[in-house]
Amino acid sequence: MAEIVLDHVVKRYPDGSLAVDDFSLEIADGEFIILVGPSGCGKSTTLNMIAGLEDITRGELRIDGEVVNDKAPKDRDIAMVFQSYALYPHMTVFENMAFPLVLARVDKETIKTKVDEAAEMLELTQHLERKPANLSGGQRQRVAMGRAIVRSPKAFLMDEPLSNLDAKLRVQMRTQVARIQKSLGTTTVYVTHDQTEAMTLGDRVVVMRGGVVQQVGTPTELYEHPRNLFVGGFIGSPS
Ligand code: ADP
Ligand code: MG
Repeated sequence: MAEIVLDHVVKRYPDGSLAVDDFSLEIADGEFIILVGPSGCGKSTTLNMIAGLEDITRGELRIDGEVVNDKAPKDRDIAMVFQSYALYPHMTVFENMAFPLVLARVDKETIKTKVDEAAEMLELTQHLERKPANLSGGQRQRVAMGRAIVRSPKAFLMDEPLSNLDAKLRVQMRTQVARIQKSLGTTTVYVTHDQTEAMTLGDRVVVMRGGVVQQVGTPTELYEHPRNLFVGGFIGSPS
């Protein structure tokens, strides 16, 4: 479980481009946060800074009160789920899900218990012996989530995890993601450019534009009181 605080975080890439400008947000333990905005607005950059995959130019990132700006990704106890599933083709579903635990030298019995639990949660129990090539897109994406879940991380970071799925599957998976997040109670930051996803999935939504946070609020707050025309237009609220 983790509280994540971004305190005036700035990201300037080496080429000089300002990708994230003065981003401040307190994410409560167990909260499901959505980052939404058009392509290029700085969503992935923000997520990558939380994961430790990009360094922070200015400002502070704190996890459970500890400043982690310089902490290596592997020491942050955070699991990332990407839109490209990056499964190992030569491994079975079981082996793919077990892999992070094998790396962490977890004992075999615990690995089996953890993978079985995650597989049940993700409705993958019948597919554990299959290879990724013999799975549907939705099943593959669930294996990728399983690989994150088995580690029982402090937090999940998801970067447009459903954007490769067709519309029908995306709606089904959305429901599953919300259900799993609630049942595990793990702090989650979920990136999307899809307004519907943003307005239905999380506890609070952060609307970004050009590296700048436009508004933070519950879906209802954003819908009823958009702070500016951009937010109103983007989430499709009446005013
Ligand atoms: P999003 O995920 O919202 O589409 P990104 O965080 O990927 O946005 O990108 C934010 C801005 O930073 C964009 O203008 C993008 O071109 C720029 N950017 C992203 N990655 C790099 C990089 N490695 N080097 C330079 N600029 C980058
Ligand atoms: Mg992105």
